[in-house]
Amino acid sequence: MLINEDIKIDYSDVLIRPKRSTMNSRGEVYLGRTHKFLWSKKKWTGIPIMSANMDTVGTPGMHKILSKNNMITCPAKHYLKKDVSKFKGGLENICWFGGIDDIKHLSKIKKGFIGLDVANGYTIRFVDAVKKLRDKCPEATIAAGNVVTADMTQELILAGADIVKVGIGPGSVCTTRIKTGIGYPQLSAVIECADAAHGLDAHIIADGGCTNSGDIVKAFAGGADFVMIGGILAGHDECDGEVENGVMKFYGMASESAMDRHGNHNNYRGAEGKTVEVPYRGKVDDTIKDILSGIRSACTYVGANRLKTLSKCTTFVRVHNTHNTIYED
Ligand code: 5GP
Repeated sequence: MLINEDIKIDYSDVLIRPKRSTMNSRGEVYLGRTHKFLWSKKKWTGIPIMSANMDTVGTPGMHKILSKNNMITCPAKHYLKKDVSKFKGGLENICWFGGIDDIKHLSKIKKGFIGLDVANGYTIRFVDAVKKLRDKCPEATIAAGNVVTADMTQELILAGADIVKVGIGPGSVCTTRIKTGIGYPQLSAVIECADAAHGLDAHIIADGGCTNSGDIVKAFAGGADFVMIGGILAGHDECDGEVENGVMKFYGMASESAMDRHGNHNNYRGAEGKTVEVPYRGKVDDTIKDILSGIRSACTYVGANRLKTLSKCTTFVRVHNTHNTIYED
């Protein structure tokens, strides 16, 4: 047994120090990024925010709005097997995720990104699956995860991933940390995995744990190339589900609700996700405007005229807990 004594941080453990800036308004900030990918050699330009590949938020309706905003949608896994055609237009702004058994379906996707995502990206079986997907799809931009450490980020990249998905346990409807004691503070995971990936000219997705636009800013500031959000997008018109008494259901993909819906109960797998009710929040467009305005504002506070330079302009300040100081709706 070992104890790692280094201090590791979550989004709520830091704030970003304001800096002198020559910028006059948020309108001067460019939020687009162009990423060129290590193995596929493809380029993508857009605002690097992604909807999580979860049942309620990875929907065709969400894709319509996100793609209009040059953001990426990751369809819920059940669309991959028989409903790919429900996602129309903006196909370059879709990242299809599947599990190890979905390689056959994933290798049929001709446009956009594909990815393998499992709760535990640390197994040899998973690394072999990434290699297999890369062999089958040499020109695809492949994302793989989830992991939280530099060593495994490098291993997945060397196995053929262009992008590594980072996050074990931070999700708003995730119970992995409670059920298993496994996890890693998310901002430290992002900083350490981004450093490892960037050293190899690869990219990372900061996946989970963002509860407001300030957390998304911190993920980008920590080096994330993409930020994936689930809970922030829940509760909107574009989500799958009904509004009842002013709330909508939002559930983890390893929750009882998901297992009931997809019939993948088995004897040794207990739920590592939960079901919550989130307030109904109307059109997702308004939430997106709010998020983008928060990121623009953060960039002006630190003197970054492009999202690309936000990380370089960032000095994090450690605080005990920011929940009282950040606006949450
Ligand atoms: P959020 O943005 O809601 O904080 O986090 C979304 C992320 O939570 C997803 O992209 C995925 O990585 C993770 N997630 C979704 N469902 C579950 C689940 O049932 N269990 C766990 N452990 N993580 C989940």
